Amino acid sequence: MEKGLVDQVLDAAARVVAGGAISANGHGNVSLRVPGADEMYFTSAPSLRGLRPEGVVRIGLDGTLLEGQLPPIQGAVVAMHTAMYEDHADVGCVVHTHSPYATAYAVANRPIGCWIEALAMFGLADGVPVAAYGPRGSEQAVANIRRAARPGVPAVLLANHGILVFHRTAELAVLVGGVVEEAAQAAINAQALGGPVEIPGELRAAALQRAMAFDTAGAKTA
Ligand SMILES: [Zn+2]
Repeated sequence: MEKGLVDQVLDAAARVVAGGAISANGHGNVSLRVPGADEMYFTSAPSLRGLRPEGVVRIGLDGTLLEGQLPPIQGAVVAMHTAMYEDHADVGCVVHTHSPYATAYAVANRPIGCWIEALAMFGLADGVPVAAYGPRGSEQAVANIRRAARPGVPAVLLANHGILVFHRTAELAVLVGGVVEEAAQAAINAQALGGPVEIPGELRAAALQRAMAFDTAGAKTA
């Protein structure tokens, strides 16, 4: 195992936990693509809380365990990670959690709409789609996730299960997971006030353009 990559996985897991977009039991898994190889580093522990270096394993994108110990129950979710690396050449990190509010939508089999600007800014202008249910790690489940994960969309809800986020870097994947959880929580609170309202389509594109313009201009002092 390469220490630098193990540390990056531990750091990403710690960011997920610190960000709070995770269920109370800490269940989830994080993987990072190994640059220049058809391999990933993957968390083999059932919880992302208090993850230790021995809780990271090396796995080929064909699903072969190359280094470390992987309990069979964790092995069942390997395929949804490898599928994202195989299908999306730009994806460098995959994060799976049962973050409570996003999982509420997943359990309701309801997509998350573009209710907050941050979703439009992070590739989710059309909201977060639902990948239809299939038994955990089954071919059917993975096929449903692949179908829902259209190019450019960085997150899908896993029906009756949780959420899968995939992005170029761990920082972005963790950030998007937090944004989706925030949108889901706000929408559930908004149910008491008549329900969430989507941002009009043309303004979603404008939100993204403004974000990109700020990005290009950099921070300005007043
Ligand atoms: Zn899960």
